[in-house]
Amino acid sequence: MAISTDQIAIELKKIKASKLQHAESLEHSKPITKLAAELQTSIQLNELLTIFSKHLAKLLNHSGLVFQHEELAINQSHGQRSHHSCEYTMTIENTALGKLSLMRRKRFSETELETIEHFLSCLLHPLRNALLYHQAIQLAHTDPLTGALNRSTLHAVFQKETAQSKRQHSDLSLLMLDIDFFKAVNDNYGHAAGDAALKAFSQCLKQTVRESDHVFRLGGEEFAVLLHPTDISGSMLLAERLRQAVQKLNIKHDEHNISFTVSIGLSRYREGESLECTMLRADKALYEAKESGRNKVISA
Ligand code: GH3
Ligand code: MG
Ligand code: MG
Repeated sequence: MAISTDQIAIELKKIKASKLQHAESLEHSKPITKLAAELQTSIQLNELLTIFSKHLAKLLNHSGLVFQHEELAINQSHGQRSHHSCEYTMTIENTALGKLSLMRRKRFSETELETIEHFLSCLLHPLRNALLYHQAIQLAHTDPLTGALNRSTLHAVFQKETAQSKRQHSDLSLLMLDIDFFKAVNDNYGHAAGDAALKAFSQCLKQTVRESDHVFRLGGEEFAVLLHPTDISGSMLLAERLRQAVQKLNIKHDEHNISFTVSIGLSRYREGESLECTMLRADKALYEAKESGRNKVISA
């Protein structure tokens, strides 16, 4: 078959055009490829979100990003909030992965929203893995009955807080709490009622302290609270507030109204000392509170 020079010219033009298109699509896919590769480098949620935001910022110049997962009680902010935002609810195979909002001073265009959706498709699988990892870590650190931090986590948190206290020359206090006559709650209302009472007690502590304070269940009906940065008089006030809040608790279980009191021992961390030393003093103060009539706060 004879091919004319005109036809060859047309074919060449077509090839050129398709090469150009290919190059353009490669150019477009480059940021996505880079993002996908870097998302593989971390399983930590905050690192993943930082990577995602950094890559997206090159194209969108957004000011901030907020990630929320209600069920896992996660609320992470990166950058700054602005007037305009776009919000995505992410799911994968019927599993809720949380909500992601991007913020900017300028409205997002349709093309930009498409870019965000493209980027989000890369984030979904790494995000699911990061959330599973986050959940596993949380479980390892928390007491399953009350949701308070467990005893083995106290050591790690204490190390972190004492290092911060040294850097910032700030105070750190420890409260040891023990529910009064808790055995009677079990004896009078049953073990399930005792469990419900422990949950309500833990909840009450968490609601009364500040977000920067840490609540631990040391075992049984014994809890500890690490207060930072609070001086001894501030800690005393908070301990007294806790004591009163517990006294006001009225737990309804199987038609019963359960209430009890708590005794609290308080000690101030002395720079350089071990957790055991701080705990020992708080424990002695707690013992005194018990011996002198219970439902009291005593400072070491
Ligand atoms: P005190 O004022 O001297 O502290 O008296 P108490 O009765 O609180 O102290 P005691 O150590 O004699 O009793 C603690 C009780 O706590 C006994 C135990 O049955 C109960 N307890 C410990 N862990 C749990 C738990 O996980 N669930 C329930 N329901 N009860 C628990
Ligand atoms: Mg006890
Ligand atoms: Mg007790």
